Amino acid sequence: ETSLPRPAATRTMVVANQKGGVGKTTTAVNIATGLALGGLDVVVIDLDPQGNASTALGIEHHESIPGTYEVLLEGETIEAHLADSPEADSLKVLPATINLAGAEIQLVSAVARETRLRKAIRKYLETHSADYIILDCPPSLGLLTLNALVAADEIMIPIQCEYYALEGVSQLMNTINLVKGELNDDLLLSTVLLTMYDGRTRLSAQVADEVREHFPEQTLETAIPRSVRISEAPSYGQTVITYHVASAGAEAYLKAAAEVARRGAEEH
Ligand code: ADP
Ligand code: MG
Repeated sequence: ETSLPRPAATRTMVVANQKGGVGKTTTAVNIATGLALGGLDVVVIDLDPQGNASTALGIEHHESIPGTYEVLLEGETIEAHLADSPEADSLKVLPATINLAGAEIQLVSAVARETRLRKAIRKYLETHSADYIILDCPPSLGLLTLNALVAADEIMIPIQCEYYALEGVSQLMNTINLVKGELNDDLLLSTVLLTMYDGRTRLSAQVADEVREHFPEQTLETAIPRSVRISEAPSYGQTVITYHVASAGAEAYLKAAAEVARRGAEEH
């Protein structure tokens, strides 16, 4: 049973922002869980050696567990190493292990180094269906992030409602344009999500206004509040949606996921 609209074709979305700690991983796992709880088929690919997305989705990712590394470096298939997340039915995760830290360097001399993830995803979709494939990146613009930008159709940027929020976004836009020109014509910045919004401060409201002015089409109506529940959830191996569904953070991420789904169904 689906309560959220299915996109006409698989949407591969990369959650990007080269600033660390802006809520990329939190956004990737909670949007993914919200979509899956809405009845959609979702795959999360964890590209960060830290494996924070794997942790938050309740997936083991110690060194001997195969995952993204084996797909990128050893030509193994995605389906071989997908794990079922306890967060939701129809939510699967390709885990990241610390081995991926070395992948950044190993990829430099690898053949077709920027297109490995795209190839693996295309192969997966030949025999499997997915409504959403969500890619979580490390906080750097290295080859792991580049693989994600090349594999994706759409970019989702989380922007923290803090000072200097838009700083770094212009650098990201330059990178996106480079990737578009050279490696992935189809890449579209489709979604901007305001995070860590603090309704008590003027600053949050000002940053939100500024971001909406800058990205009028892309910015979701829902802003994610700053919330202790959101930051606690990963230590229980959960997203805030299952950790504390009655919290403002869970409610906001469920609404944001519904917006993502609705907009995606309209566009296609
Ligand atoms: P990134 O992946 O961009 O490095 P994370 O998603 O890991 O960022 O978030 C950085 C830190 O901020 C984490 O400790 C996370 O739990 C916390 N965090 C993320 N979003 C929120 C929020 N809305 N409210 C409070 N803490 C948050
Ligand atoms: Mg992260």
